[in-house]
This record gives sequence, structure tokens and C-alpha cells, in this order.
Amino acid sequence: RPVVGVLALQGDVREHAAMVERAGARALPVRRASELSEVDGLVLPGGESTTMSRLLETFELLEPLRERIAGGLPAFGSCAGMILLARQALDGRPDQQQLGGLDVVVRRNAFGRQVDSFEADLDFTGIEGGPVHAVFIRAPWVEKVGDGVEVLASVPEMPGSDDAAARIVAVRQGAVLATSFHPELTGDERVHRLFVDLVRQA
Ligand code: GLN
Repeated sequence: RPVVGVLALQGDVREHAAMVERAGARALPVRRASELSEVDGLVLPGGESTTMSRLLETFELLEPLRERIAGGLPAFGSCAGMILLARQALDGRPDQQQLGGLDVVVRRNAFGRQVDSFEADLDFTGIEGGPVHAVFIRAPWVEKVGDGVEVLASVPEMPGSDDAAARIVAVRQGAVLATSFHPELTGDERVHRLFVDLVRQA
């Protein structure tokens, strides 16, 4: 079984670990660089991306993690995790650090202008067996994608608003996967399975 780390600084660490195990990998909480060196892939949970980037510095994980991601470590970021993996975050704080790995520009709290949280059933490229039920909590959306980035899911239109634009909420670039929403909360491990498959292929 591949070893999939779950960054354990903030957020739904236990829920992600349970999903990783259900998806057929061994879950390992990661708080230090020595633990990071043991994993074949890493999940970055949601939370608050500014706080998480500060905690990454405090725990001396920022540089080691940047290096491993640049070296091809498969990573899956949910919500704040997506923000951290992005090349750039709009509406971020000036001291917000990016890990890179995903050639996308995200906007923090983007849906929050209309609704703080909402749920939607989404068609998800690469996931069979019906739509994925997605829970969004002060979620970012992806505003710009680079050439190597595949869009996997979008919200067709903003719930409860007259903004008719589709909003990108799931992307993949190589072995780096990110969702604006929280797939650890719904009891459906298909997104984690997709990630564990990427880890196996890497
Ligand atoms: N709004 C948070 C941020 O900007 C993300 C929310 C979440 O991870 N649920 O970091």
C-alpha cells in the first residue's frame, strides 16, 4: 500500500486519513520534515490558508514541502489546501505563502460574497458512478488555469445569484489534484481514490 501523508497542522485531518485508508492507502499524519520524507503522496486539508502557511513556517515544513512538490510529490489540496498549492492566490494576505505545484490562480473566499457555504452535485471528470456531492465552506474558485492544467469539475452557476459564469472547482496538473470543496465530509471516497491512483502511478 502506498503511504499517503495528511498534513496535520489544521483542518479535517482525521476525516482525510479515514478516506485515504478507505481508498486503499496507508495514512500518515505529517507534522515534521522527517515524516514528510516517508510519504508517497500528501493531502493538504482545508482550514485557513494564511494560518496554514504560517504554521508551515513554524513547523519548518514550508521549504521541505516546496522542494518535494517541485520534485514531483503527488499532492491533493482541498479548499485552503488548493489555495496553498496554487501559483497565486487573489484576495490573500500579503504574507500568504504559496507552495506551488499547480499553475492556477485562485480567488479566496470567492463564493463567500454570495453565500458562505453551499452544496452541489458535480460531474467530475475521471470519476465514474454518478455526480460527486460537494460541500463548499468559504471556498475559493479557480480563476485562471495554465496550459498543463486539466479542469475536472465546475459549478455551472452561482447558487442564489445572478452570476451566470461557470466556476472551476476541481483541477489536476500531473499528480497534483485540488478541489475547492471538502470530499472528506460526505462519506464518498471517490475523490481520494482518484488521488491514491495518481500516487500509485507516480
Ligand atoms: N477561506 C479559507 C481560506 O481562504 C478556506 C476555507 C476552507 O478551507 N474551508 O483559507
